[in-house]
Amino acid sequence: MADKYNQGGQTVKQKILVVEDEKTLSKVLKFNFEREGFITEIAFTGEEALEKIEKDAPDLIVLDIMLPGIDGFEVCRRVRKNHDIPIIMLTAKGEDIDKVLGLELGADDYLTKPFNPRELLARVRAILRRSAHNNTDNIKKVIKLDTLRIDLLQRKVYLKNKQVDLTAKEFALLSFLASNPGQVFSREQLLEQVWGYNYYGDARTVDVHIRHLREKLELDPKNPEMILTVWGVGYKFREAR
Ligand code: CA
Repeated sequence: MADKYNQGGQTVKQKILVVEDEKTLSKVLKFNFEREGFITEIAFTGEEALEKIEKDAPDLIVLDIMLPGIDGFEVCRRVRKNHDIPIIMLTAKGEDIDKVLGLELGADDYLTKPFNPRELLARVRAILRRSAHNNTDNIKKVIKLDTLRIDLLQRKVYLKNKQVDLTAKEFALLSFLASNPGQVFSREQLLEQVWGYNYYGDARTVDVHIRHLREKLELDPKNPEMILTVWGVGYKFREAR
């Protein structure tokens, strides 16, 4: 039940990150999840949570709102910038649920304290089943950088919430670069990845498409801040700050 399939068809255990500073509760949750076959990590602060999310790439996050330092709202906001990992928020009575589940935070579900760990387990299973159907498996569906938003499923790009018209190749190039932020690709690699064949000779095709993308997306196309040139090597998409 707590297994998923990797690309080789083997089962791997699913990972849950519990973010809760109350030690008794986080231990009870860890115990319950592990008994059901999940790998479970605990983070006691928001900062620790953000670190573990980058390092361990959990399949789901159980996130308490009240935390020392960065609170659960802020953790949720930051995770949503770069990840599609399902989040269940633990809320207190009287919490603004519209905010928790709404656009601003975008948590997948919530439970109000106190709750029965079995109820949490049921919610976790339901969400993981749903996301298995959506085939997320940590593949991002929406990529965001500053005011740029790339919706990979709908194949649409927005800048400051306004849709930008891109050609199919421009979209393919942008989404490939943006799916691998910080990674430098040579023109030849981009031709192979985006155009799908060894495109002998004319690597300028890439340059032309990059220029068009910058004209459409960058505030100052001559001093790009998203699609960066790495001199003598190629191009890369900037990582989120
Ligand atoms: Ca707490």
